[in-house]
Amino acid sequence: MSTNTIRKAKKLVETGGVVKIEDDLFQIKSSSDPNTSYFVTSDTCECLGFKNFYKFHHGKGLKANCSHLEAIRIFKKENRS
Ligand SMILES: [Zn+2]
Repeated sequence: MSTNTIRKAKKLVETGGVVKIEDDLFQIKSSSDPNTSYFVTSDTCECLGFKNFYKFHHGKGLKANCSHLEAIRIFKKENRS
């Protein structure tokens, strides 16, 4: 995974761009457009990057990732009690 993805994910968490809606449902702001947000679970995301991943890497057995999925991972780690 690129460090850029992690950097973006950390920024999203730090700036309050991650909102927990349910146990496995989060609303996350787009890092490029503050007026847009995506509904994200721990393994799916609505964003274009996530969708394109499967388009470009179809059938390689890779798991898609994007800054939003990574943001959830960081968010969960920081909010574990
Ligand atoms: Zn995403």
